[in-house]
Amino acid sequence: MAQSRPRKRKVIPLNTKACGLCGKKTTLVRTECCGQWICDDEDNYVAFSYARNSCARNHRRQTLCGYHHTEGHDGDWQTCQACREGFETELFVWYGTNDYNFTKLQDPPAFEPAHCGGCGAVISLAMDGYSQGPEGLICDPCTNKRFKRPKDLGLVKQ
Ligand SMILES: [Zn+2]
Ligand SMILES: [Zn+2]
Ligand SMILES: [Zn+2]
Ligand SMILES: [Zn+2]
Repeated sequence: MAQSRPRKRKVIPLNTKACGLCGKKTTLVRTECCGQWICDDEDNYVAFSYARNSCARNHRRQTLCGYHHTEGHDGDWQTCQACREGFETELFVWYGTNDYNFTKLQDPPAFEPAHCGGCGAVISLAMDGYSQGPEGLICDPCTNKRFKRPKDLGLVKQ
């Protein structure tokens, strides 16, 4: 006869607040948009550095949740039509599924990746640099080739 032993209950300490994105237990605040605990680290952000090292800032600026709240939309961002129409599908999906989200978009819509009008390489609208030309989007390497400074071609007299 098998006797089931009483299982030891795991005691969860009450004070387990941690940032929902990086897990740090430093200074935490609740996000305005969704009320989750997040690092209160915006002071670390160096203006114009474009560093993506602030959890609070990343969540507010790089997710649909933050955008939806900032723009004052109604309802849930997951089902918000204004959010859906506010971005290229690729960016919409990225904003809804990147690691700055607490809850990610379920069943993100499919999209055709953007291609460089010069070399045909796939351009990630969220992660890659690109410029807009008459043929559409141009990837960074192609852009640099096209706008070579005269100095690089040896045309500038010293
Ligand atoms: Zn964090
Ligand atoms: Zn949020
Ligand atoms: Zn919205
Ligand atoms: Zn290219």
